[in-house]
Amino acid sequence: MAFGYLLLNLILITGYYGLPVEDDPSVIVNDETENSIDDGDVIDLTGLEPNAFGYPKDESGEAVANWTESSLMNPEEMGGYAEGDILIPQYTRNGVRDQASLWPKGIIPYDIDRRFNQEQRDTIMRAIADYHRLTCLRFVPYKGQADYIAIKSANTGCWSSVGRLGGRQEVNLQAPGCLSKKGTVLHELLHAVGFMHEQSRPERDNFVKIHYNNIKTGAENNFKKADPKRSNDYGISYDYNSVMHYSEHAFSKNSQKTIEPKVSGVTLGQREGLSRGDVKKINNMYNCKKEEPQTGWVGSIWQSLFGDKSKDLP
Ligand SMILES: [Zn+2]
Repeated sequence: MAFGYLLLNLILITGYYGLPVEDDPSVIVNDETENSIDDGDVIDLTGLEPNAFGYPKDESGEAVANWTESSLMNPEEMGGYAEGDILIPQYTRNGVRDQASLWPKGIIPYDIDRRFNQEQRDTIMRAIADYHRLTCLRFVPYKGQADYIAIKSANTGCWSSVGRLGGRQEVNLQAPGCLSKKGTVLHELLHAVGFMHEQSRPERDNFVKIHYNNIKTGAENNFKKADPKRSNDYGISYDYNSVMHYSEHAFSKNSQKTIEPKVSGVTLGQREGLSRGDVKKINNMYNCKKEEPQTGWVGSIWQSLFGDKSKDLP
């Protein structure tokens, strides 16, 4: 009896090995994903504006619908939510509004709305593949898990909640605006992972100048700094290249810059991919012990597939 049970388990476990990592919920047994997250790791949301807690709005959708590749700002910088694209539902499952959690073991179940077309789905999957290639996070297809993200495309802009709220939580990517760049998908997913905006770091005034005269009336809240007591830099210094940094014209009323870097030669608001700093911050937040295989046959296959990928990062 016991032997039969063991055998069945062995068959079940080994049966998973042929699946790609994106589809394989058993990937947690792999050494590469040896995260040591406690269920209790909390993300403090009390620094958010009251409008971070609410409901999706159609007005934000109109702005994103009018967005084009030549727009000065990113589509997620056009919403009427807290900091443009942060929305926490008024009531979460456990009733706690002002705190979220990390995802245990860095595993994030996701469900993608069937209304996305193939090209849009591909953009989402390319973003997820980046997380799998560069971090310990594992996005696994939703199969009835208690907590998961529902990626959908209502006409309400690009937005996400911050961290794991408990139960079903939405990441909205209005098509096609929010799917024009893989980086916008990476950005919204990184909110769901647990990160805020780079330019809201408490020490940002040492790195960028905010031009309040150019900010749209009513959008000043998007340039608030986080309380140092409630934020954690995870050992990574201010990162102009972060996919979580706003662009220089975010919430501008007059096509003049609202955020100006204090050094030359940097571009703000890139949405091409995760920066080196983003990758390190994620892996530090999730206690990722992942080491890229460098030597041996695993290493040579790994390197030929992914190379020294850090050189390609922004
Ligand atoms: Zn954002």
